[in-house]
Amino acid sequence: MPNPLPPGSMIGILGGGQLGRMLALAAARLGIKTHIYTDEPNAPASAVAAASTTGSFEDESTLAAFAGTVDVVTCEFENVPARALEIAGRMAPVHPPANAFATAQDRLTEKDFLRGLGIAVAEYAAVDDAKSLRDALVRVKLPAILKTRRFGYDGKGQALIRNEAEAAAALKELRGQPAVLEALVAFEREVSVIVVRGQDGELGFYDPVENVHQNGILAISRVPANIHAKCAFEARRIAGKVADALSHVGVLCVEMFQREGEAPRGEARRLIVNEIAPRVHNSGHWTIDACLVSQFENHIRAIAGWPLGDTARHSDAVMTNLIGAGVEHWRALAGEENVALHLYGKAEARPGRKMGHTTRLLPKR
Ligand code: AMP
Repeated sequence: MPNPLPPGSMIGILGGGQLGRMLALAAARLGIKTHIYTDEPNAPASAVAAASTTGSFEDESTLAAFAGTVDVVTCEFENVPARALEIAGRMAPVHPPANAFATAQDRLTEKDFLRGLGIAVAEYAAVDDAKSLRDALVRVKLPAILKTRRFGYDGKGQALIRNEAEAAAALKELRGQPAVLEALVAFEREVSVIVVRGQDGELGFYDPVENVHQNGILAISRVPANIHAKCAFEARRIAGKVADALSHVGVLCVEMFQREGEAPRGEARRLIVNEIAPRVHNSGHWTIDACLVSQFENHIRAIAGWPLGDTARHSDAVMTNLIGAGVEHWRALAGEENVALHLYGKAEARPGRKMGHTTRLLPKR
């Protein structure tokens, strides 16, 4: 076990969104301070941190100065530039490792990595131009989804392809950005697993979650997921395998589809991995209220070299995102029984923007 960072230490967080905010709050509970590095003024995380620096992720001297003030650096968003991690890494240890970000940032690298581990993914092929699109359409049966390899999130940079004309139009839309064509999975439900891996390789798992997306954005997470015990076991096994293979330190989320229909070769074979996120995740927000130690605290514990905390769930939970104008109901939600309200302190409720969430606790079944 490494020497744990003592209370009073300073953790640097790249990114200032709500995930950074909840990480900072969790760190504060352990007497650990946080310094946020963000490229937006008035970031949600800055309001609850001991220190905050506003600068671009390309500004190497500001990044280095920031990293020089902290004991360890972590990230709250996925698309952090590799160079920023490298600069920060010269001044302080960085967890999770850069290769976890490199793998998750590129959908093609990610899928090759997963397939290399023997983990099932949807049929896919790289698409860079008209020729590779033709080849991809031979390999990947329609309907399919064309996704940009990089910088896609919340369903952005994706197009449903039902025929060759749509494929050609979607390729044009991409304006030369590299992409992957991915078979559309007929799924019964989407599930995710939040796993935490310590610096000594210890693994902790939260119970698999069932997720409902609307317009490509996570709307609701329910735990426990309505899946067979064998499937839940397999979902955890996959998440642990991914975390180990990346030598990950901190929290990681694996999002999966449970395929429709009978499972001729057993329940566990119904899982297909969609993507991995090398960070705390929206589908783990329920852990703040339904577990003794949340995903956020466990991420802080892992990167600080502390023993991992208890991941067991003491209640069933339904997490609902408050998106855009949905946050206007805050007053009524604040008065509801068995509901925990979380607001991210964002000034403007733009459509599609995550403004807060609620977690409704239910007796554990
Ligand atoms: P992603 O950005 O890859 O997480 O995709 C956002 C959402 O789009 C997913 O949570 C699914 O609801 C849907 N989706 C993405 N890829 C596929 C696929 N291959 N088959 C079916 N649905 C998908």
